[in-house]
Amino acid sequence: MPAKQSKSQKVALVTGAARGIGLATARLFIEEGWLVAALDRDADALQKAAADLGQAASAFVCDVSDPGAVDRTVADVLSRFGRIDALVNNAGVADFGPIEQTDFARWRRVMETNLDGVFLMSQAVTPALKDTKGALVNIASISGLRASTLRVAYGTSKAAVIQLTKQQAAELGEYGIRANCVCPGPVRTKLAMAVHTQDIIDAYHDAIPLNRYGTEREIAEVIVFLCSEKASYVTGQVIASDGGFESTGVGLP
Ligand code: NAD
Repeated sequence: MPAKQSKSQKVALVTGAARGIGLATARLFIEEGWLVAALDRDADALQKAAADLGQAASAFVCDVSDPGAVDRTVADVLSRFGRIDALVNNAGVADFGPIEQTDFARWRRVMETNLDGVFLMSQAVTPALKDTKGALVNIASISGLRASTLRVAYGTSKAAVIQLTKQQAAELGEYGIRANCVCPGPVRTKLAMAVHTQDIIDAYHDAIPLNRYGTEREIAEVIVFLCSEKASYVTGQVIASDGGFESTGVGLP
């Protein structure tokens, strides 16, 4: 049974909410009194996550890189909740590979979710955000701020998300919509641990001033803050939540 919705209760749509940073973000929104539309393409994981999140969340299975599915899902979210106050574009895929081995299909796989997905979701939700003077938060990465070997597709997709956020802030500010970007440092999620070897883990520990990986919760705190009234004069910003890594000028491991 979905939770009863009070008229003033805010609604966050979180993509990639079945696990990792997205799930932690959905959980924190609920703790702060929001309702959550939890979206993911992994139906089984999403079902488990929704059960864990409880009545304040509703699950929507959707691939953010599929334009038709995105439009249908946003319509479903609006028919369920009647409003959207925040969109968190968090769904993402990782890729580690040298330029010459990154064939076009591999490049497109990364761009379709990490970049096209952010564009499509944002475009579909913008009319609803105009109604609520809502907030957009896009999740990029320190890989979008710093170049390194092996991140040609991933790093480029995340750098594009940073610029897309600035375009959104510039264009949508007149409607009261704020757009900000969070660049997480390394967090021990399925996405990261699929590509982080022990050498990479050790190198991050050395290179990060706080000498550790972040937690999903630490990233979620920044995201939810940016969606809240406390950040009402913050837009067009790119905020690294990375234990100080970006400030050091050290290259990515
Ligand atoms: P994760 O793999 O734990 O979770 C990602 C979720 O996104 C999964 O549930 C997956 O099913 C979903 N997803 C992927 N493609 C999708 C699609 N096309 N449509 C709908 N859902 C899709 O990963 P995470 O580490 O929690 O990553 C979340 C975001 O944070 C990503 O954008 C990632 O690039 C970014 N990020 C993560 C790290 C890190 O170290 N974990 C660092 C920097 C940035």
